[in-house]
Amino acid sequence: MKPVTINRSLIRGMVISILSGLFLLGAGDTTVYVTNSGSKYHRETCTSLSRSKIAVSLEDALTSGYEACAVCKPPVPSQGGVLPAKTSPPRKSLYRINKTHLTESSQGEIARMVPGEVVGHVDGDTLRVRIPNPPPELKTIETIRMLGVDTPETVHPHKPVERFGKEASDFTKARLLGKPVYLAFDWELRDRYGRLLAYLYTPDGCCFNAALIQEGYGYAYVSYTFHFIEEFKTLEQAARKGKRGLWGDP
Ligand SMILES: [Zn+2]
Repeated sequence: MKPVTINRSLIRGMVISILSGLFLLGAGDTTVYVTNSGSKYHRETCTSLSRSKIAVSLEDALTSGYEACAVCKPPVPSQGGVLPAKTSPPRKSLYRINKTHLTESSQGEIARMVPGEVVGHVDGDTLRVRIPNPPPELKTIETIRMLGVDTPETVHPHKPVERFGKEASDFTKARLLGKPVYLAFDWELRDRYGRLLAYLYTPDGCCFNAALIQEGYGYAYVSYTFHFIEEFKTLEQAARKGKRGLWGDP
């Protein structure tokens, strides 16, 4: 383990966060918990958190529209529930893939994308992401359905686990859970379930959606069009040919 060195900028950062914490009346540095599907936020010990538990700041929970759980009575903001305006970095606009700039999945211009952190894992192609200071179209916690890729089913209530579904799910979890990601969008922002349709880029500028297909963990999902459709089809053909992942011999 590396020793922790306290340098001047760290101390300055701490002073700034303490001061901004005072401005936020404690809402920014109070941790509360939300679930994958619920609309309430909770204390860590609440029994409602048995299925999933995602730590967020009280401020993020409030700005995302979560309400205090009536059972565990988590902290609420002081001064009549009104949060003062927050001074934060400028919001990023949504980065849409289009023909004039990003035409290949491998060209990720992550500095222009919306940054987030993977805080929950559902299966190979679906994740929960926390977006600090989200643009107006987005919430602080979003369920992301990765665009243009379909991994074998593992969590469908009425279908059996498909071959290679667990491997795909484990691959996504190992690579992304707890990690920073950058979001890019295409024609449609959400699917009919309200999930955000996005390309997830890793800090090295690689498109994880493409990587899933390339490594044989998923199929190119071609029922709806998207800008990388031809490229993703080609990646799938190469994975089949190379017998990678789900294309290997059973
Ligand atoms: Zn609760």
